[in-house]
Amino acid sequence: MHPHDEVDSLMSLITDFSACSGQVINIQKSGCFFSKNCNPDFFVSLIRQLNIGKIDLNEKYLGIPLFIRRSKSEAFGHLADHFDKRAAKWKAYRVISSQNRTQLSTQQSKVYKDSWNTPVLPKVQLFLWKCIRNILPTKSRVFRFTTEQDNLCILCDDSMIETAEHLLLHCFFSKAIWAIIPGGNLVLQDSSVGIDIHTWIYKWISSCKDKTMLCQILTTAWTIWRDRCFKNFQGKSQNATATASYAMKIAGETIQSVTITHTPTITQVIIPQHTLMVLPSNCIMMYCDAPYINISNKIGIGIYLVDETGNYGGCKTITGITRDSEEAESLAILVAADWERSLNFEAICINSDAKNPVSFFKNKNNQTSWFSNSILEDSILF
Ligand SMILES: [Zn+2]
Repeated sequence: MHPHDEVDSLMSLITDFSACSGQVINIQKSGCFFSKNCNPDFFVSLIRQLNIGKIDLNEKYLGIPLFIRRSKSEAFGHLADHFDKRAAKWKAYRVISSQNRTQLSTQQSKVYKDSWNTPVLPKVQLFLWKCIRNILPTKSRVFRFTTEQDNLCILCDDSMIETAEHLLLHCFFSKAIWAIIPGGNLVLQDSSVGIDIHTWIYKWISSCKDKTMLCQILTTAWTIWRDRCFKNFQGKSQNATATASYAMKIAGETIQSVTITHTPTITQVIIPQHTLMVLPSNCIMMYCDAPYINISNKIGIGIYLVDETGNYGGCKTITGITRDSEEAESLAILVAADWERSLNFEAICINSDAKNPVSFFKNKNNQTSWFSNSILEDSILF
């Protein structure tokens, strides 16, 4: 067949394909590959008429060979070389960064480590880290990087530049809060000496042995920043007394949760024998409880199963998240009910120490929330 005819057939094929598929072939990015059986004179005239280039056997697209021949190592050898070069650089980088790490460990890593081990909420720890790194986005810092013209403290009317030191130690609003907070007099003493925020925070973290006071002071510092953000971004007016009481509330909850986490109480299960005596035949008793951590909303459900003869029948533990302790206790009852039914006993007996959920079953003075109600109803209907 004459090359002209070949080209005409090919072009009409491409035109039909474009019409049917709605896609247009980019001729400039196309190439022709000919098998070795083709006559060189033939394919030269063909690519001239098509006006597209000839591609070789070792042609690549995005670094990947278009034609993979018998030898894979030959086809992909360039990728292995490329990777080796990058890996060699990466090793060099690792050496450099490990040197940096060594420098950090001698100078600052203790400060960072101590700040992350401070008994405060994770968001307060993050705030402390920003203070230590001097990257808290106060107006004085933001002022340097934007066209924003206002760099004055929003909490006082003293036309003072808002730095972290001013905001947390020298501002009249903050001083009013420190005057209320337990241990705040020590902070007021700190504010009278020209201390920078990095040194101030680290001084408290490293030297304060009273964990409750440490938590209160650092949580209060975060609360001042929090309320400053509320005023700055939402225009909420702030009140020193309200800020102080919120800080104390958060600090109190934090201390409570930290105490729970660090000194877990070991519960000894005591099974009252007289309860077992009144159980009907083919009945099973389940003791269920669900401790709840209000700072994280985490719960742990524990169920202990005893048969009518008083023998241990099994146990089950489940973790989860609920809105409050009542919902946690209700869920424990639901899980226990579900489990007991799966065991095909004629009668079930669930023992719980949760006052409101138990009252729910007794139809007495029902004070459970709507979401606990629906869980408890499910435990009956299961
Ligand atoms: Zn101020």
